[in-house]
Amino acid sequence: MNAPDSLSERKQTKFIIVTGGVVSGLGKGIAAASIGRLLVSAGLKVIPIKMDGYLNVDPGTMNPMEHGEVFVLDDGGEVDMDFGHYERFLNVVPKSHWNLTMGKIFDYVRQKERKGDYLGKTVQYIPHVTSAIKEKIMHVVSEERPDVVLIEVGGTIGDLENELYVEAVRQLKKDVGVNNIAYVHLTYVPIFAGTKEQKSKPTQQSVNILRQRGLQPDIIIGRCARKLDDSIKEKIALFADIEKESVITGLDVDNVYEIPLVFQEEGILKQLNEKLQLNAIPKMDEWKKLVSNMSRAPKTINIALCGKYTKLEDSYASVIEALHHAGAHVNVIPKIHWIETTRIEEGTLNVEDALRGMDGIIVPGGFGSRGAEGKISVIQHARTHHMPYLGLCYGMQLAVIEYARNRCGLSLANSTEINPRTTFPVIDLLPEQTTITQKGATMRLGGQDVEIKPQTNAEKLFGPVARLRFRHRYEVNPAFIEKLENMGLIFSGKAPQREIMQIMELPDHPFFMATQAHPELTSRLDKPCPFFHAFVRSCVK
Ligand code: GLN
Repeated sequence: MNAPDSLSERKQTKFIIVTGGVVSGLGKGIAAASIGRLLVSAGLKVIPIKMDGYLNVDPGTMNPMEHGEVFVLDDGGEVDMDFGHYERFLNVVPKSHWNLTMGKIFDYVRQKERKGDYLGKTVQYIPHVTSAIKEKIMHVVSEERPDVVLIEVGGTIGDLENELYVEAVRQLKKDVGVNNIAYVHLTYVPIFAGTKEQKSKPTQQSVNILRQRGLQPDIIIGRCARKLDDSIKEKIALFADIEKESVITGLDVDNVYEIPLVFQEEGILKQLNEKLQLNAIPKMDEWKKLVSNMSRAPKTINIALCGKYTKLEDSYASVIEALHHAGAHVNVIPKIHWIETTRIEEGTLNVEDALRGMDGIIVPGGFGSRGAEGKISVIQHARTHHMPYLGLCYGMQLAVIEYARNRCGLSLANSTEINPRTTFPVIDLLPEQTTITQKGATMRLGGQDVEIKPQTNAEKLFGPVARLRFRHRYEVNPAFIEKLENMGLIFSGKAPQREIMQIMELPDHPFFMATQAHPELTSRLDKPCPFFHAFVRSCVK
């Protein structure tokens, strides 16, 4: 989207700082992304920066149960899942250094200290660490030259581990000028069960914590089950020393894509325009139409999502989003049914029962042997019962194993990830992975071009080349490609100049496609992922 001249000519980048208070899990990432969406729809270039307090360099080594999905960027960075929202809402392809972690910051400061950059000085949290944080922010600004930088400070105000970020964004006001920075604070406005009254005290206290750190909010978003009453807005405004119009409802909604529309209606842009001397006029009609399809579509389809972290929906966040994007375009509502594949292999859940009434099956990405046999049984069912199947990364590797076992007569076929001593290692480590011992950022990561085979389903979806995003250590073992293909399996996408199989499909099946990539990561509401789009279409039939 091109910025109108008057906007792109403006030299000064504006900063919007989003902090959260009261409780965690209020949806700060979504709130920030929603503000961003409004600005982007007005033609502005918006770049997100997320600051995480943990000491890991990135979330790549964390269990998805602990941290939710690891989001992989085109440049190969493994980042916080909030970047999923940013990619989906802001029409940007984020870069890994837009995600600051204390692990990265301390690494950077320590390296500078060893190089002698601070020679003669005692290296301190303030100013050295806070300056390092600001340096990282300004580096992004000078690289990207955005109209607006949207900075999300992780955690809840008052958390020890985020204090240095809070101090850095406080200092930023002096560096960039008071008219170029707006502080948005997201809080919680509870209503106790059995009462109707919206309570402002947690917000007041949270604003007090902000103020103790020298931050005065310009806008407060109060997350609440109901629109904030005028009286509560007045009360919050009085205590927080802002205009009543700067108190915005962060309404509980079923569908996060509604949030930009809620904010728009609440007049958040008027406040930001005034504060930052912007002239942004959002154009949200197309978005509004798609959002309305998401809840009002006339038909529902039942999708079995078969994995081992099904108790924590966050670990498959992008898969869920991608399904809903496709649903909005096909005008159906995908209803997701979580199938815990560890139960299938333990024998406490029967495949037939688990999949009864389903219109389509997805096996998403995964690691390790637990639950894998359960997934293979599910895939076999999809193949032999002609049910639409979409395999994502591990979901492709396991589909290849299933095919090798049950169609190619290699009954002992397996992945060396599951059984290192298998007789038929149809899935094996990528050659370059065999010497790697470090765990962080060592998988085959990031965006890669995929060469598409002519006259395949993949070609119908992508044309001659697709750009997809990867995160894996294992691959289809080239030694078995011929045998698999002779028995009918088609590898319809591969790495250019290399024997890495990236997309597979089965002919004579209503829809059976799988990819070594994670196409869910690049799906957007206004541009659904072709795999998901085609899969959802076939589920409707
Ligand atoms: N465990 C498999 C691998 O490392 C699949 C990874 C994934 O699904 N992201 O190759």
